[in-house]
Amino acid sequence: MTGKIFRAIVSVAVIILIASTAVITGCMYSYFGGVHEQQLSNELDLAAAGTEQGGESYLAQVRSDNFRLTWIAADGTVLYDTHANASEMTNHAEREEVAGALSYGRAASSRYSSTLLERLMYEAVRLSDGTVLRIAASRATVGAIVIGMLQPILFVVIAAAVVSGIFASRMAKRIVGPLNRLDLEHPLENDVYPEVSPLLTRLHQQRVQIDDQLASLRRRADEFEQITGSMTEGLVLLDAKGSVLSINPAACKIFQTNPGCVGSDFVAVNRSRDTIAAVSQAFEQGHSEIRISRGGHEYQVDFSRIETGGEAVGMAVLAFDVTEQAFAERNRREFTANVSHELKTPLQSIVGSAELIENGLVKQEDMPRFIGRIRQEALRLVLLIEDIIRLSQLDEAEEMEKERVSLYDMSEEVVAALQPNAAARAITLSVEGDRGEFDAVPRLIHEIVYNLCDNAIKYNVDGGKVLLRITDGGNSVKLTVSDTGIGIPPQHQDRVFERFYRVDKSHSKQSGGTGLGLSIVKHAVQYHHGSVSLESETGKGTTVTVIFPKLVNVAGD
Ligand code: ADP
Repeated sequence: MTGKIFRAIVSVAVIILIASTAVITGCMYSYFGGVHEQQLSNELDLAAAGTEQGGESYLAQVRSDNFRLTWIAADGTVLYDTHANASEMTNHAEREEVAGALSYGRAASSRYSSTLLERLMYEAVRLSDGTVLRIAASRATVGAIVIGMLQPILFVVIAAAVVSGIFASRMAKRIVGPLNRLDLEHPLENDVYPEVSPLLTRLHQQRVQIDDQLASLRRRADEFEQITGSMTEGLVLLDAKGSVLSINPAACKIFQTNPGCVGSDFVAVNRSRDTIAAVSQAFEQGHSEIRISRGGHEYQVDFSRIETGGEAVGMAVLAFDVTEQAFAERNRREFTANVSHELKTPLQSIVGSAELIENGLVKQEDMPRFIGRIRQEALRLVLLIEDIIRLSQLDEAEEMEKERVSLYDMSEEVVAALQPNAAARAITLSVEGDRGEFDAVPRLIHEIVYNLCDNAIKYNVDGGKVLLRITDGGNSVKLTVSDTGIGIPPQHQDRVFERFYRVDKSHSKQSGGTGLGLSIVKHAVQYHHGSVSLESETGKGTTVTVIFPKLVNVAGD
């Protein structure tokens, strides 16, 4: 801008200078031309008077470098010339000024010289004897004047250019200075040229608009951060090149990174062949998913391409915890395999014994043993199927009717039922403590007490003891079943509540166990929102503690 102002001022100054020089030169030329013509006319009158009196002798004495006199006869013959030999000169009758003087008494004309830089002026007058006296003088043309004045003109132009340059430079700086010092943060607070006011007002309006838009963008970014920040699922947004645009805290935890990874390639953040393949598959096909294991958890990671106008502009990566789901799936698979195995073993035994009998390979005296085995295995199958049905009912979590139950009465009932088993091995069963009344599903409570007491007998030593103690804690009822049996080694204690888990398979089978007893206990306790725990020492005995909360909303269960 400074340059433009500078150039404009210098150009205007030079143009004005040239134009004024031309106009002044023109005016001067015209004025001095008029004066010169008048002088020439006066000289002609003077010379005409002299020639009238003195003739050729007068003309001979005229000495002037400024003009030339030519005396011409009426027929055009040159009689005398002050600057040339008259006899050598051609006839002048046709010359414009001579012809004019002969006709009208006085005439003038002018002609350019061959160089065009000089103009010859002629004026002729007819004398009383009919001859014509002509005066001629040369006069410089405008071109000659300009060439003659070129040096001073150039000097003035250069001086004017320098002066106007200095002036223009200062002027430009003075004009631009306030513009450079404008406070664009607060456009309306500037007090400069009124001409820039509309611009500053517009700037102010745009600033307000930009501030509004920025505030709204910031608000949206905050909302986005708040929402994604409180998500338990990990969310990562990638750009079209696969670089991280945003990552929420849950994703940082899952992918074991930090928010500083924004801007890096996601594949570098989560280096694995599966991830690389999933990202490129999602970019190509729109969607892909993988499972990853981190910190004992299993996560499903979904990659979804984000498109605008049919073009991939990025990708959303959503990672969520599927540990429980995976665990349940694994459990279900294991359970199915276990059930098949558990059913197959007694069935094979039944089929085998039946085939032997059918083929007459069993002696008559062995018959009761074989039939007894068939019956025993069939009974095992029934027990197993009953336990599976119970478990699946508990899995379904169907609503069952609750009523007031006394844990003490229930324990006495169970003890009475199991007394023959205990007596067979000289095991003492006893119940003590509070009545332990609370609202529960009687069948399930019976199941819990029965299974725990049954285990305490089954895994006891001959002549051992089993004690069922009920404690009413006001808000809860506690049942502890202690035995003096074989105990459970520490490495198995966490797993005995799993389905089909048995410390000693043969012992369990021998004593009619299905491996589902404690699993049923755990689910039945959970159904009542209670908790079950186990303490055991190998060779000393086991104590299982079950706590039932009393304040459970009966109608809601
Ligand atoms: P099972 O039908 O085999 O008894 P459970 O689910 O009731 O199945 O018990 C799982 C395993 O836990 C048993 O096989 C046994 O090894 C162990 N167990 C359960 N209760 C006791 C106990 N009171 N004393 C010692 N071991 C026990």
